[in-house]
Amino acid sequence: MYRTHNCGELRLTNVGEHVTISGWVQIAREFGSLTFVDVRDRYGITQLVFDRSQDADLCDLADTLGREFVIQASGTVRERSNKNPNRATGDIEIDAKTLTILNKSKVPPFTIEEETDGGDDLRMKYRYLDLRRPAVQRNIILRHEVAAETRKYLSEQGFLEIETPFLIKSTPEGARDFVVPSRMNEGQFYALPQSPQTFKQLLMVSGYDKYFQIVRCFRDEDLRADRQPEFTQIDCEMSFVTREDVLQTFEALLRHIMKTVKNIDLGEVERMAYDDAIRFYGIDKPDTRFEMKITELNELTQNKGFVVFDNAELVAGLCVEGAANYTRKQLDELTNWVKRPQIGAKGLVWVKCNADGSFNSSVKKFFTEEQSAEWAAKMGAKEGDLLLVISGEKDKTRKQLGQLRLELGNRLGLRKADEFKALWVLDFPLLEWDEELEHYHACHHPFTRPKDGYESIENIAEIKAEAYDLCLNGNEIAGGSIRIHERDLQEKMFELLGVGKEEAEEKFGFLMRAFEYGAPPHGGIAFGFDRLCALLGGQESIRDFIAFPKNNSGRDVMLNAPSPIDDLQYKELHIASAVEE
Ligand code: ASP
Repeated sequence: MYRTHNCGELRLTNVGEHVTISGWVQIAREFGSLTFVDVRDRYGITQLVFDRSQDADLCDLADTLGREFVIQASGTVRERSNKNPNRATGDIEIDAKTLTILNKSKVPPFTIEEETDGGDDLRMKYRYLDLRRPAVQRNIILRHEVAAETRKYLSEQGFLEIETPFLIKSTPEGARDFVVPSRMNEGQFYALPQSPQTFKQLLMVSGYDKYFQIVRCFRDEDLRADRQPEFTQIDCEMSFVTREDVLQTFEALLRHIMKTVKNIDLGEVERMAYDDAIRFYGIDKPDTRFEMKITELNELTQNKGFVVFDNAELVAGLCVEGAANYTRKQLDELTNWVKRPQIGAKGLVWVKCNADGSFNSSVKKFFTEEQSAEWAAKMGAKEGDLLLVISGEKDKTRKQLGQLRLELGNRLGLRKADEFKALWVLDFPLLEWDEELEHYHACHHPFTRPKDGYESIENIAEIKAEAYDLCLNGNEIAGGSIRIHERDLQEKMFELLGVGKEEAEEKFGFLMRAFEYGAPPHGGIAFGFDRLCALLGGQESIRDFIAFPKNNSGRDVMLNAPSPIDDLQYKELHIASAVEE
């Protein structure tokens, strides 16, 4: 038997027991005639003590131990004289009587402790060592728990977990496909699913009215910060449901996960129309842990002689509570912050609502104190608050204010990591004009149902969709929609999107045909599983919640993938090798 106990479970109640443990050497150190060895596994760390006065040979062996050696030791549990309150096993130690080196280890390239000295690249190259660190292990364990609770909850609600294929034909979620050449079908390719969207809709046609799957999705996108080319979704679909049914079902899922995994009671989940999110928060996934809404000020600010405002499509601002005491330096710094290319504002106008009721502003040449007071009243400002105003094109200005709002939220400590606020964003636009391609594309995806009233399409740009996103603390954690289930409407949709009849038939004929055989009304949602785990783990990056992630260039630096294939493979796959080209 390799072990009677793991390295995290021995306590004072075990004193006197003869035990065997196995694990990795965290550290071995000599103190006079004693050698102390900390042994680690995923459950914790236990201290072994070897006593030269009792067994010199054994102590000699213990003195050969290096970091990360794999050992087995047995001995008697005894109370420690020098207790370590920071460790669950810190009240005891093992008076070691045997020691076996199960395997040696080279000196690891970074320290395998809570905090490591290893840089990102090194940690990724030796990911199996990084995964030994308790900090990373906690994330991987949390991920397991979220998956387990998801399966448990949805199964209890009558959902069936059904797998769908990976070698398929393109599913449009707005990204590029990863493709796989077919050896048996010369010149033909599979696409890896960007999501199981079409399959889950087919399952609805088949009558599996509650489906879910914790599933890998593949999207060949230019990797923006913290995206992975392969990532995981909790993918769900239901038949005979209204939007309300879907919202309630999955709000309850989130509630269940947060309660069981983190013991967090998710409060009320607010709902907001997309148009309001953009208007008041400058973003489609508002962080509602704090207020600080955008106020539009055109009426109070235009045609008063300040050309910058007069020429702007939108003048709008934020009221920053209690910030009237910002120094000139702080204001200049904020101004520079909004002027950075990433934000792109032309400038920042500020108004201080001083404690004595007076006003001070960066545009006092153009606006009187009375006018400042009017702005303050419109923005609901009190004495001691600071107003920050940006102007320009409507969309850009809203976005800039949205970014400034989040930055201020960070600076003022309003975005607390241990506070959770979920929000449904509803009524997304159906279509979005693509400037580059000069045609509309579906905001969500082409299978999303237009909201009622679409039949008389005068201005298609204004049609809303039966689409919804679930946000948590300013992150989109899930998105879905009620779907089109009629062939003619689906055809019309493709038409709007500029997809020709033939192309639509070639790409989605299978789905439209299925719609002709009794497709029930249906809708669903998919959660970004990695992101959800990261948020529940209180962290920004999804990478540390994935056992073997890719780096920012989409590489697995441990495997060194992607990598070239050999000539024979090119040949078998009927594709020209790079060399031949
Ligand atoms: N397939 C969608 C996505 O990946 C989710 C859904 O509409 O259910 O975003």
